[in-house]
Formats: sequence, structure tokens, C-alpha cells
Amino acid sequence: MQFGPNQNRRFKSADGAYSTVTAREYDDSQITLTDHEARIVLDHFGEASILRGAVKLDPDMAAKEFTLYSTGETIGLNIIYPKAEGNELRLYLRRNFKPEGGLVFFLFLQGDKLWIGAMTEAEWRAGSADMVRDDSDSTYQEAILESSKIKIATLKERDIYVRDRMVALTSMENSGYLCELNNTHELFISRRTGNHYVEAHHLIPMAFQPEFSESLDTVPNVYCLCPNCHRAVHYAQKETTRTILENLIGKRDVLSDFNIGVNDLYALYGVEDIV
Ligand SMILES: [Zn+2]
Ligand SMILES: [Zn+2]
Repeated sequence: MQFGPNQNRRFKSADGAYSTVTAREYDDSQITLTDHEARIVLDHFGEASILRGAVKLDPDMAAKEFTLYSTGETIGLNIIYPKAEGNELRLYLRRNFKPEGGLVFFLFLQGDKLWIGAMTEAEWRAGSADMVRDDSDSTYQEAILESSKIKIATLKERDIYVRDRMVALTSMENSGYLCELNNTHELFISRRTGNHYVEAHHLIPMAFQPEFSESLDTVPNVYCLCPNCHRAVHYAQKETTRTILENLIGKRDVLSDFNIGVNDLYALYGVEDIV
């Protein structure tokens, strides 16, 4: 599958693709590159440079250069069209790159280099989850009564966001100051507002604003959650986070506003299916 904003930010890449290595691929020492993986490889090397037929017909033409993640070492791997007809594209694994079955295999473009790598599913998900900490949500909550515009100075070394508190206030009013996941979740009364204490959560996290042309700080994209549900959507185990996300998008169709699918949303949080 194609990298989303989370993965491109993580690897500082322009584009990329990933999939799970199957036991069969490992045993056969070959990966069939499909969909976006194939697209990236063909665009990078040029379709005309791919050898059709066995490697031994032209070993120099079959050999392609990759940059190994994360060492940056240059390695050679063979890529060919093994069959006389059709566009099945095959990458041969060898000692310098032979990920085991179950690992996440990935390719990405950074500058003029095509990087290749593999890591465990746990490492993959943990890295994605790191990108979506979105500490700004809680800052937002604290600042909500302070002024009409909220300036978040910097998100790590990234951009400055100005947020409209009316967006969060409108979302909270719309929710009736209840948890949008489940309106029976128990809430305490905020000493400052006299309303139930709920937190504003951006379904598509504000951290990814640079990757979207539309503003992410909109009423539909902001959900009011009880503190427990809010922590859970960021930090819970995969299945719990997915259940919450699924439930939230079931309440209103936010994804089509931003032209992304459910698994793309999961990928932003590091809880996607990796196929
Ligand atoms: Zn949040
Ligand atoms: Zn809740």
C-alpha cells in the first residue's frame, strides 16, 4: 500500500509503499512487486531499463541500486520481468537484503534515492504512533477559554498553527458537552466553564495539516471526547484505537471531506492493516 502522510513524514520521503513479507516470499527469496511498489520502482528506474527474462540474460541490466534503510548503505538487488508477457515485476532477495516472513517491507523515494528496508510490525506501528502524539490537542483544551485565536508556537520544528476556538466550542456545544463516543461516559464538571469537561480531538490530527490543502481545524473534524476515550484513541492497543475511530467516522462522514479511506485513517494512527 502507498505511504500516507504519516509514513512520508516519518521517512522524510516524497512517496513510498509497504507490505508484509509472506513466508513464501522469504522461502523463495523473491518478492513480487505489486500496485504502488511496482509504480515507484518503474518510475524510479524507468520501465525501459527493466530486463525481461532470466537474470543471467543480462546481469548488469537486472541489477538495480538501492539505499538500505537505515544505514544508508548502497546495495544491489535484481529486478526483472520474469515472464515473456505481462507486467509481473519481481525483486530477488539476497544476503544483503532478505527480510523474514511477517516483517514489514518498504520502499521510499527521498531525493534521488530509492530506499529499501524492513522492520517488525511492532516497530512499524510504534514509529507511526510517535508521529501522531498530537500533544497540541491538550494544549488546545487548556487554551480554549483564553482568547479568540490560539497560536500553537511550534510542533517540534514544524509550522505554526492558528486555531479558531469557535471550532472547538461549536463542536462541544454540538456534543452537548458529552463524550461523542458514548454519551453515557461519566464526566466531571469543569471548574472554569461549569460544563462537563470534554476534550477536543482532531480526527485527522493537526500534525498532518501541511499534507492537506483543506483546513483540519473544522467542526466536523473535531470530536469531543471524555478524557479516557481521548487518551485511548492516541495510546490504546490497535484494536481499541480502531474501534474508537470506526465509531467516530460512523457518526459523520469526515473522511470524504479529506478524500481519504478508512485504512488511510488507520495508517495515520499506526493501526492500519498492512497487506
Ligand atoms: Zn487528540
Ligand atoms: Zn468517552
